[in-house]
Amino acid sequence: MKKIAVFPGSFDPFTIGHEAIVRRALILFDEIIIAVGANALKKNYYSLSTRKEMINLVFKDEPRVKISHYEGLTVDYCSRNNIGFLLRGLRTAADFEFERAIAQVNKVLAPDIESVFLLTVPEHSHINSTIVRDIIRSGGDASVFIPAAIDLKNFRGEE
Ligand code: ADP
Repeated sequence: MKKIAVFPGSFDPFTIGHEAIVRRALILFDEIIIAVGANALKKNYYSLSTRKEMINLVFKDEPRVKISHYEGLTVDYCSRNNIGFLLRGLRTAADFEFERAIAQVNKVLAPDIESVFLLTVPEHSHINSTIVRDIIRSGGDASVFIPAAIDLKNFRGEE
């Protein structure tokens, strides 16, 4: 059976930290689905379609990476699509505590789905989408934090 993992997140925007986690995880999985969470209650800077378009540019030459989106619980998305693994990245102790609670709750909700964590490389541990977004909103140059395939000049935020 094909080993498929979902990499869920807001990706607002997708950073080099996210990209590195996906590329490293390709050794572990046959296919990775980057699933952009479409949370109606969460105000995002980049629209869902813009976020997906940006991620598509990064992996256009990698057929084992697919881009999708979902609403609702991540484990329900996995169950609906027969996905056995949930991939997350860890940067800090705060990430660990947050992810631990979610993964343990997910284990109760969906015992067959395994959460798999990759520790970020030290060069990426300070990169987070909130800070990158603030730089972009304030007119700064955030390009060093964004995958080379994405030219931020071609994308507009919502506000
Ligand atoms: P969420 O809103 O689900 O936290 P994010 O887009 O912020 O979505 O993050 C998605 C996943 O990527 C999370 O597992 C997060 O810990 C991980 N991640 C974010 N930034 C980095 C980074 N710089 N290095 C490694 N993992 C990261």
